[in-house]
Amino acid sequence: MSVELRSVTKTFGTVRALLGVSATFEAGKVSMVLGPNGSGKSTLLAIVGTLSRPTSGRVSHGDLGASRAKVRQALGWVGHDALCYADLSGRENIELAARLHGLDAGEAFESARARFDLGAFAERPFRTYSRGQRQRVALARALVQAPRLLLLDEPTTGLDVAGVARLRDVVREEAARGSTVVVVTHDEGFARDTGDSRLVLQRGKVVEEA
Ligand code: ADP
Ligand code: MG
Repeated sequence: MSVELRSVTKTFGTVRALLGVSATFEAGKVSMVLGPNGSGKSTLLAIVGTLSRPTSGRVSHGDLGASRAKVRQALGWVGHDALCYADLSGRENIELAARLHGLDAGEAFESARARFDLGAFAERPFRTYSRGQRQRVALARALVQAPRLLLLDEPTTGLDVAGVARLRDVVREEAARGSTVVVVTHDEGFARDTGDSRLVLQRGKVVEEA
């Protein structure tokens, strides 16, 4: 399903976070969104994921139509917050996400363990994890139900070279499976190596599209 934004504006009181943004994010592609701090990247991602409504303009999600519930069911999201319970282990967080999607928890964890190389740390509470371990579990949790729409906000932050390489493989695999993948990043190298297209925001406007 492609996601289309037409003339989307978002204001928070007097703050104009997005101003007339039009963009298409295609299924089976990795779309990169770049831009300086405060340029509206996270706001754009939240609108694509229906977590926030535009002040004006339109957003469409292909065959999912206008149903926010359907979009959210199809959504995998990793934002600034990992959306994991701090006192549960990585395993428990992944198993819980699987059960919420009606999937077999044990199978979901085994496949996540292999894909994200989750070691013994997966049995410890999430709050004890290093940044890289958090990121792996957060991604595994988000991917548990094979989302059709995958949205990642600054996913390379704090990752080492091996972590970034793994992330690139995972993102490419998800797009190859047909998912619509949108990644907000500061990392020009990651955008170049991993993206199929790029959109650059500045002060809420699109200043470059390729
Ligand atoms: P980016 O992710 O590119 O750093 P954001 O999309 O988070 O930028 O923010 C864009 C602008 O909108 C910023 O000026 C930010 O302070 C403002 N903003 C974002 N969310 C809110 C909010 N809930 N209330 C008020 N202002 C907000
Ligand atoms: Mg942001």
